[in-house]
Amino acid sequence: MTETDTIAAIATPPGTAGLGVIRVSGPAAPELGRLLFRPSSHNCGWQSHHAYHGDIVTADGTTLLDEVLMTLMRRPHSFTGEDVLEISCHGNPLILRTILEQLTNLGCRLARPGEFSLRAFLNGRIDLTQAEALAAVISAQSAKAHQIGLAQLKGSLGVKISELREGLVDALALLEAAIDFSEDISEHETPLAPRQIQEAVTGIEFLLSTYRQARLITCGINVVITGKPNVGKSSLLNNLAGRKKAIVTDIPGTTRDLITDTITLEGLCVHLTDTAGIREPQDAIEKEGIDLVWECLEKADVIVLLLDGSKPLTNEDDHLLRQMKKRTDKVIIAVNKSDLPRAWGPDQLADRLPAHVNCLDISAKFGSGLDALKRALCAHFTPNSGASDNGYMITQLRHKQSLEQALANLTAAGDLLASGHSPEIPAFEVREALDALDEITGRKIQDDILDKIFSTFCIGK
Ligand code: GDP
Repeated sequence: MTETDTIAAIATPPGTAGLGVIRVSGPAAPELGRLLFRPSSHNCGWQSHHAYHGDIVTADGTTLLDEVLMTLMRRPHSFTGEDVLEISCHGNPLILRTILEQLTNLGCRLARPGEFSLRAFLNGRIDLTQAEALAAVISAQSAKAHQIGLAQLKGSLGVKISELREGLVDALALLEAAIDFSEDISEHETPLAPRQIQEAVTGIEFLLSTYRQARLITCGINVVITGKPNVGKSSLLNNLAGRKKAIVTDIPGTTRDLITDTITLEGLCVHLTDTAGIREPQDAIEKEGIDLVWECLEKADVIVLLLDGSKPLTNEDDHLLRQMKKRTDKVIIAVNKSDLPRAWGPDQLADRLPAHVNCLDISAKFGSGLDALKRALCAHFTPNSGASDNGYMITQLRHKQSLEQALANLTAAGDLLASGHSPEIPAFEVREALDALDEITGRKIQDDILDKIFSTFCIGK
């Protein structure tokens, strides 16, 4: 497809900076460049993908607006697949707005959010997974999330989906042949594609299995620190965050609200929450704070339960340990104040929690044992082997839902074939599965879903 209108937007963030970039895409882009640009060298040949230095002026040529670098990228070898102009000027919002105004005065339309990416998709320059990866690369909050986004931007997920698709197209061909030539093909001659269907099921199950880890990597892991008052929760948050976020005192019940901070561990994003100490509340405010803790623990990806190793375990500790029994897959026990003499030993935990629960000695105040705690937190990110490196990880809920749909269709098709059903309905199910896969790459997608996806992009992208 080719759009007839030409769009423009400021592609750099609002505010003052060294440089600012305006992007223009559409058939009028080269002409707009010629109208507004005065090259400093006489031999400006407007070669594609070459940056030229010069002045940008008003359309009537009377007023100098800025000194810029101008690059024309001719279609189809541009990001959008259309003629694209990039004007790199000084990063003053006033200059950027004035240049943009000149462009709109000459008939350019202001781009909607994500419209450059939408055009790239509609012109076949990228598939939908790559467009979504682009947004992910821009908003990535950690090195690992950035890596996954980049791998998907290179098209790795799209390639994987295409492989699954090819197998299913073969399966469908076999099933349709069985429908068309049912009289000529005996039951023994028609394999009816169970192998292709099973391979696709295995591939889809693998992709789905990466979702939880991928979400943890891209959105960050929520770590909630809990324990009775005065065990050192605020000290731990402060030490991990490397700054004084929470108040540390000997007075129990000081932390009443949730106190959060985000840190990076081994290139991964970790959202830490310090919570009110769990005990019988002394007043309404403390009760509110403790209610919040239970809600927060429900949503946690990892819970660090702090115990004070320098004092005997209490009923409050016991209560918390009992609660953790339901969540042993996401609990790390940290026995704090290891710098003080121990009042109890690890054997006291043995009959309270299963052996596989990670139990570490730390001193939140002096920092000992915190490296081991950080490693234990990172272990919760460990992705399926090979999946993150080649970008096969599923990071979008939209992709997950389409894969679940395809899986349901293929399971139904497989079951029907296994029970000796005639091929018509299995063929229908395989076709539905193909449609679900095509929604992921955008090969077949409804306009309203497209609008929804691209409207979440930033302007200028
Ligand atoms: P919270 O109520 O659980 O948040 O506990 P705080 O972080 O406010 O700490 C309560 C008291 O324990 C403060 O006096 C801290 O200095 C002290 N504390 C915290 N961690 C340690 C530690 O590792 N060793 C020692 N000796 N004291 C600690």
